[in-house]
Amino acid sequence: MAIDTHCHLNDERYDDVNEVIASLTSNNITNGVVIGYNMETSISAMKLADENEILYSVIGFHPGNIHEIKDGDMEKLEALAVNKKVVAIGEIGLDYHYEPYDKDAQKRVFIHQLNIAKRTGLPVVIHQRDCGMDLLAILKEHYKELSGIIMHCFSESTEMAEEFIKMGCYISFAGPLTFKNSKSLPDVAKMTPKELILSETDCPYLTPHPHRGKRNEPKYVSLVVEKLAELREVTYEEMEKQIEENAKKVFFKMK
Ligand SMILES: [Zn+2]
Repeated sequence: MAIDTHCHLNDERYDDVNEVIASLTSNNITNGVVIGYNMETSISAMKLADENEILYSVIGFHPGNIHEIKDGDMEKLEALAVNKKVVAIGEIGLDYHYEPYDKDAQKRVFIHQLNIAKRTGLPVVIHQRDCGMDLLAILKEHYKELSGIIMHCFSESTEMAEEFIKMGCYISFAGPLTFKNSKSLPDVAKMTPKELILSETDCPYLTPHPHRGKRNEPKYVSLVVEKLAELREVTYEEMEKQIEENAKKVFFKMK
């Protein structure tokens, strides 16, 4: 069994979404968390969670989508967050990879959504890319008042990992852990306390080895769990059970 804590089944590449969802249980996926990145995909994530018992949703504006925010969207997001199957605010954060970007606007929207998470008691799913120390600085200011922080598709250095672990952030591993050029990720996987480890696919992106090049699906999360188990020298079952416990604690607690 395995849990995919970060999938985009609401992506247009899943024109066969019903079949993919129907195959989850037979592929030993116990739960999936569908992630939004703007208003439209947040609502479609919620719809999938409403229709499928094993799915949950996460709603919010990705830093690359903040230009789409319309008047009233933040209030609407906060109102939607009370839905029983919305389990976090995300994916939110900072991304200075693709020009042009507006650092100040990204920070403003990020902090606004952190405050929504505080008011609603939900954890946050964090996206970060090429944003240096800015994200760390903001989280240092806010982490004590948040119910949980999930560093999605972690791909930073061991030094950065240490900083996040100190704040009790969950480190979520995805396909890149299985890549041959996975750099510092195996070390991060070994140093993260077991109670802070999560597994995800970030599908349809980042398909794990040996399926690279194919469309990613939640079922491939087992390859990430397998790699985690190998690196940490535990059995697959032990690793999976630990991740399930962690996911239950941060995401699936009853509202
Ligand atoms: Zn994502």
